[in-house]
Amino acid sequence: MMTAGNSVSLYIHVPFCTKKCPYCHFFVQPDSLENQELFLSALAKEWQLRSPLLKGKEITSIYFGGGTPSLLPAKSLEKILHWIQKGPASLSPSCEITLEANPETVSLQVMQEFSEVGINRVSIGVQSFDDNLLRILGRTHDSDKAKKAIHTTYEAGISNLSIDLMYELPHQTLTQWQHSLSQVADLPITHLSLYNLVFEPGTSFYKKSKVLSPSLPSEEDCLIMLQQAVKDLESYGLMRYEISAFAKPGYESLHNTGYWTARPFLGLGPSAFSYWEGRRFRNKAHLKKYSEMLHQNTLPEDFEEALPFEDKQKELLAVELRLLQGVDLHLFEQKNGILCPSLHASLEKLLSKQWLKQEGSLLRLTEEGLLFYDSVASEMI
Ligand code: SF4
Repeated sequence: MMTAGNSVSLYIHVPFCTKKCPYCHFFVQPDSLENQELFLSALAKEWQLRSPLLKGKEITSIYFGGGTPSLLPAKSLEKILHWIQKGPASLSPSCEITLEANPETVSLQVMQEFSEVGINRVSIGVQSFDDNLLRILGRTHDSDKAKKAIHTTYEAGISNLSIDLMYELPHQTLTQWQHSLSQVADLPITHLSLYNLVFEPGTSFYKKSKVLSPSLPSEEDCLIMLQQAVKDLESYGLMRYEISAFAKPGYESLHNTGYWTARPFLGLGPSAFSYWEGRRFRNKAHLKKYSEMLHQNTLPEDFEEALPFEDKQKELLAVELRLLQGVDLHLFEQKNGILCPSLHASLEKLLSKQWLKQEGSLLRLTEEGLLFYDSVASEMI
């Protein structure tokens, strides 16, 4: 019988975008037929080399992220899904197969084709429903296009639909944020991921951070934005189940929940991370080199680490605490060993600060702990 211990996920990084957004730190390449062909033939090779690892496993979720995976034609996705179906792992009957899409790539026909080849969940990069902010973010869609893309995807038969929204943006006001949130009320979505803008090194926003920083909302306003989001989204039935994720009951993302509960995953494609048998590794963030190495039968990794026991335990607990349901410490210790003394000491400190609370063996963030999660995590790690 298949047990939860056999459950794994797959992440496939499709690195193509029509334009690089100024805040984006992902590995992205210009979209062209030539690049897509190079990618697909290298990915086939990577699948051939890595798939034996999946023997005896059950795939709980497959996630096409990017980049803009919706730039790939449905027949390319069908080919990739066909390799997976023919591979050594079984697919869970409720396997969640998500495709990230940008609004400008959505049409009824394209979404119907995606649905026909097996995509059963779409995550649309909306980011904002304010046209000025979308321009600042360098996005190529406007608010009307984003709403239309959501309705079109739903009409195409993909009813498990997530969107991304961003806050803490340059020149963003509380009124604009309230307006963006109010637009969510009438949309046929089941999930929403909330991101605050971070100036990541290497991005053009990072280079301009001195100029942009004065236009960011104040710390107090950012806090109000987060609280407003939780209140409004919950009033639309999108319940907060993780620090930055909201879902209608039963639509919590299987794939993302795997990240928070340490489900092993294999990442394929340039720059993709994997977490497998306690080891973390990453593929080269370079399409040509990724492809060349694979065609020489070499795994295209450029980073790997296996955390020492205590570090791993601390990280796993900090990440799992992101889930609002909390962590059952008995189960956690069964899976990850008895809590080490320094982790015990950190938990005591966080409990006395009332950033964590414990009922029996269940450990959870408090309301305040949710607001200051970054401090909670750095205390533990
Ligand atoms: S669309 Fe997404 S992946 Fe592409 S550049 Fe913009 S933020 Fe990055």
